[in-house]
Amino acid sequence: LTERFSGIVEKLKRVKRLDEKTVEEALKDIRRALIEADVNIEVIKSFLDDLKQKLVGQEVIKGLNAGETVIKLIYDEVLNILGEEAPLQRSEKPPTVIMLVGLQGTGKTTTAGKLAKWLKSKGYKVGLVSTDVRRPAAGKQLCTLAKTIDVPCFIDEEEKDAVRLTEKVIQKAKEAGLSHIILDTAGRLHIDQELMDELVHIKEKVNPSEILYVADAMQGQDAISTAEEFHNRVGLTGVILTKLDGDAKGGIALSVRKVIGVPIKFIGVGEKIEDFQQFHPDRIAQRILGLGDIQTLLEKMQTAIDEKKAEEMAKRVMNAEFTLDDLKQQLQMIRNLGPLENVLKMIPGLGSKIKDLKVDEKQFIRIEAIINSMTPEERANPHIINGSRKRRIARGSGTTIMDVNRVLKQYKEMKKMMKKMKKSGKMKLPFNMPN
Ligand code: GDP
Ligand code: MG
Repeated sequence: LTERFSGIVEKLKRVKRLDEKTVEEALKDIRRALIEADVNIEVIKSFLDDLKQKLVGQEVIKGLNAGETVIKLIYDEVLNILGEEAPLQRSEKPPTVIMLVGLQGTGKTTTAGKLAKWLKSKGYKVGLVSTDVRRPAAGKQLCTLAKTIDVPCFIDEEEKDAVRLTEKVIQKAKEAGLSHIILDTAGRLHIDQELMDELVHIKEKVNPSEILYVADAMQGQDAISTAEEFHNRVGLTGVILTKLDGDAKGGIALSVRKVIGVPIKFIGVGEKIEDFQQFHPDRIAQRILGLGDIQTLLEKMQTAIDEKKAEEMAKRVMNAEFTLDDLKQQLQMIRNLGPLENVLKMIPGLGSKIKDLKVDEKQFIRIEAIINSMTPEERANPHIINGSRKRRIARGSGTTIMDVNRVLKQYKEMKKMMKKMKKSGKMKLPFNMPN
């Protein structure tokens, strides 16, 4: 696991149940990790309080140790706060208007271009509009971007009133038959009353489907109070986090979600127009916690589940109850382990013998398909599978009657072998490799 949490895993090595003291100890490390990731202090506090309640008294997850359990539960909690992936809202009556708001320099104009390109790639007809009447350069910057992605750009250098300008250009955009219009609004260095009023007026005039707050992930703690102000005044429907390509750990994502509660929709990961992605909570959660290795944990849990299944199956095998359904499950388990050659090489004594063996995985898939095409009754009582049933199964699975016969024969032999094993009391690999 990552260094940040290796301490927790080490400390809790032998813990079986998470008591209050153990949890508090572990949470200290978590607090440090969250501070490093730039999560807002207030947010950390309430997050840890909630977390403590959830953790105390928890059983250790099967397949993980106590430390790993703690990390898994924290990860789940972060995911929970970050929320689901949320699609962009669309207006029933086109065009859908998307307003980008935020302070100066957070990346609004760049993001307008990125979002336009993203929507265009989905087949939409997008137009860009600058409502910044104060700085003509702002409109130019936007239209230069628009040119590179080949979408229309609407500005009006004569109009000095942002609200009237917006109305005018939206009318033009409608006439152009656009499905989406992205409004790049003016920013300021700090929150100011005039700007907020302007945004509220624009909102009232154009009734946007989305008002997305563009937040600079490098900004740290400040971004949260600013976002709150924007939300209180203008009413945000979502957030786009920019500059996540730098050192920013993404803690702002957690803060923003916890404080404002609106979904994060996209992230910007570079200056180039294609450096733009839909928001994936799991990726950000891993980044905030510095868990490159959460995947390993999830896989370990999965293995524990598979082991339990294998145990159950072994029991069935020993009792010679082995059905065609069991066979199918066993094949799936083997395939889940990865390329068969590698799996077989790991079996002691077998590795050297199969050096040049090329396992035909297609054959496994074919067997599964054949079993899938059988009715539950046929799987439980293979002896009822007569000629016409075989024909139906072959047709259903895209194989031949010969293939069906072969699977039935192999299954019979396996079952016989298992009966013998049961008598002799010796357990061997229950599954014969097809060849
Ligand atoms: P605006 O004032 O909000 O419109 O901000 P701009 O779009 O003009 O961007 C300000 C600066 O941030 C520019 O130098 C952009 O290239 C840069 N920028 C925007 N988004 C990103 C991003 O996702 N990653 C990085 N590294 N830089 C970005
Ligand atoms: Mg701008």
